[in-house]
Amino acid sequence: MATENRKQQLHVFFFPFLGHGHTIPTVDMAKLFASRGVRATIITTPLNLPLISRSLQESTALGLPINLIPIKFPCAEAGLPEGCENVDAITSPDMFPIFFKATTMLQEPLEQLLQEHHPDCLIAGWIFPWATDSAAKFGIPRIVFNGSGFFPLCVGNSIALHQPYKDVVPDSDPFVIPNLPGIEIQMTRMVLSPYIVNNEDNVIARLSKAAAQSEVTSFGVVVNSFYELEGIYADHYKKVLGRRAWSIGPVSLCNRDIKEKSHRGKQSSMDARDCLKWLDSKKPNSVVYICFGSYSDFTIHQLREIAMGLEASGQNFIWVARESKKTKKEQGGDIDEDQGWLPEGFEKRMEGKGLIIRGWAPQVLILEHESVGGFVTHCGWNSTLEGVSAGVPMATWPLCAEQFYNERLVTQVLRIGVSVGSKKWIPVVGDYVEKVAIMKAVKEIMEGEEAEEMRNRAKELARMAREAVEEGGSSYSDFNSLIEELVGLSN
Ligand code: UDP
Repeated sequence: MATENRKQQLHVFFFPFLGHGHTIPTVDMAKLFASRGVRATIITTPLNLPLISRSLQESTALGLPINLIPIKFPCAEAGLPEGCENVDAITSPDMFPIFFKATTMLQEPLEQLLQEHHPDCLIAGWIFPWATDSAAKFGIPRIVFNGSGFFPLCVGNSIALHQPYKDVVPDSDPFVIPNLPGIEIQMTRMVLSPYIVNNEDNVIARLSKAAAQSEVTSFGVVVNSFYELEGIYADHYKKVLGRRAWSIGPVSLCNRDIKEKSHRGKQSSMDARDCLKWLDSKKPNSVVYICFGSYSDFTIHQLREIAMGLEASGQNFIWVARESKKTKKEQGGDIDEDQGWLPEGFEKRMEGKGLIIRGWAPQVLILEHESVGGFVTHCGWNSTLEGVSAGVPMATWPLCAEQFYNERLVTQVLRIGVSVGSKKWIPVVGDYVEKVAIMKAVKEIMEGEEAEEMRNRAKELARMAREAVEEGGSSYSDFNSLIEELVGLSN
């Protein structure tokens, strides 16, 4: 009871990286803390604030103790266009280093807020390595939120430590990830970020190195995962690599009703009820859902190839597609300026069979519908975990970041997916994949005995995911121990 009372007074600051793949699970985390009576305050920039506020509508109505505080993003000072406050507003690769540099200018305003509010804990995104020192100045423990799982954390750590890619020629030759528990995992230099393989010295490389270091110096790491999914990697991370970590996911499962699920992230481009109505008209496991996260930006050529691959697969589909941010001229090649990005007559032919959502979709709501039987994903960690939680086999199409690591987890460790065959780490646009490969991968996760086996394994994981977050489950218990520790510290 004493602890219960103390919990009421705990106050946790959340400071997520400015990308939807980070703010979305952070909002879920804040809801989770608030649902246990902890006061949660999310710090974000003015343009990200209304999106977060929308995602919190239902929690606010329930009276959960969650606040939002805006912090100015230094667009002009950093040389970014006004309004570029989220990675999804970045329109060219050379803006990334400037954007990351701009995030370092948030240190001073964050420290002012820490001094003013003096929370009991700061949970900050991995890309703010300086946040550990900032919090320490005020005697506040800082917890890191990487936004990824234990498997990718272990793989990333092994690659950084052992540099197994060194001297491997050609770039397409495989090498083994050393000192990893479980089955042997191979990578190639092509699927690693050039920051790693070329040992580049720039702002992103420096921040990444400092971030890895801050995992060690911080109070610990909070991980959106569950023990039953990747227990041997969780153990390895904690016992062999010596990190303190709590596994508290899948956090997306804290969203219980339709509104909560459809209010995650940006405003949906299609009404959630219309989406559900469309799905209701389809047979169980007969629709494949295709989405590449929050900031992918495919060329028109690639979009057309996807359309043709989907049509050839013969499956029902919901495809979340965005026309490229680049102009057709910038994309070069044989693009006809007047022609749209879909093959001629595609929408007419696909009427009733395929639904294209242009922009943002209520992903979790769609994935959880019983008609959805497969997911073509870029393997962002949230999407991967949401696919697992929904119990659907996945066709993996990693583009960049740690997505190739997640692909190995899905296809080789968990055996709930097949690769479409993208082989090269390319930011935002990804490696080019042809229609035949897309068609083949879609059919492999939707039809036949192997698809059924993958689906059965995925459904079993989904069941365990739900159990993990229920009272007495592994994530529920780990979350409890985290709160207990924070209570202990604040006493
Ligand atoms: N998402 C969504 N609708 C979309 C696109 C993305 O709800 O149309 C959500 C998705 O459910 C996930 C997040 O955005 O929670 C994307 O995170 P992820 O780690 O998968 O990829 P990222 O965008 O960071 O590459």
